[in-house]
Amino acid sequence: MINSSKFRMADIAGNLSSIKEKILIACSKRPPEFSNVTPRLVAVSKTKPPNLVISALDAGQHHFGENYVNELVEKGNHPDIKTRDIRWHFIGHLQRNKVNKVLAVPNLHVIETVDSEKLAAAVDSGWPKFRKLDDDKLNVMVQVNTSGEEEKSGCELGQASALVKYVLESCKNLHFMGLMTIGTYGYDPANGPNPDFVSLVKCREDVCKELGLDKDNVELSMGMSTDYEHAIELGSSNVRVGSAIFGERPPKV
Ligand SMILES: *Cc1c(COP(=O)(O)O)cnc(C)c1O
Repeated sequence: MINSSKFRMADIAGNLSSIKEKILIACSKRPPEFSNVTPRLVAVSKTKPPNLVISALDAGQHHFGENYVNELVEKGNHPDIKTRDIRWHFIGHLQRNKVNKVLAVPNLHVIETVDSEKLAAAVDSGWPKFRKLDDDKLNVMVQVNTSGEEEKSGCELGQASALVKYVLESCKNLHFMGLMTIGTYGYDPANGPNPDFVSLVKCREDVCKELGLDKDNVELSMGMSTDYEHAIELGSSNVRVGSAIFGERPPKV
């Protein structure tokens, strides 16, 4: 009898290793000012069952991303997942009434999608109830809507500095880790550098200049299955890759 989960396991391990190879090649094409960071691969497991997360863990993957709260809660609390060396990235739109659900997830590593002062404040005030150690800060990224599309979340480019300042000065339980963007879907890098990625790089420059921060301490989360290599060449330090690891997802309805 064919053991389909075994075959899938092999696929996932193979996909991860070929992506990691491509990440290294992309690194070698970066301008020298970006050459000090090794980009992190976040395996985006949304819509995929827990056994595929376990397969990726078995293949040596540690960082995982989810963008629906209920799925993160389910997979994060799975008995064969929560005991592993796993670091969860929440990468979806977060409503304030769901903040505590996300904060309660075992091994939560970062919320990449803080896009307003109100959300930052809710995460900041909620975290002490859930953290394991007294002074353990929760990593957050500020999500920026680089494409200006109304349906995309994220603060406006011009508001990024003020929001980062708020997190740094008013959220004592949070650690500001960097900036994140999704950008317009389906951009073809054959047409030149992706304008959303270029905007995020520029946004970091502006934020660092205005707030006196060191660029090396401000990460950039950008790039997905179709464009992670391109994003790395432009300076991404955190790529969020789903379908290239776990296979295509059913189209959204
Ligand atoms: C789904 C998703 C990804 C991964 O998309 P793929 O195209 O499957 O790699 C990355 N980032 C966010 C915010 C997502 O929602």
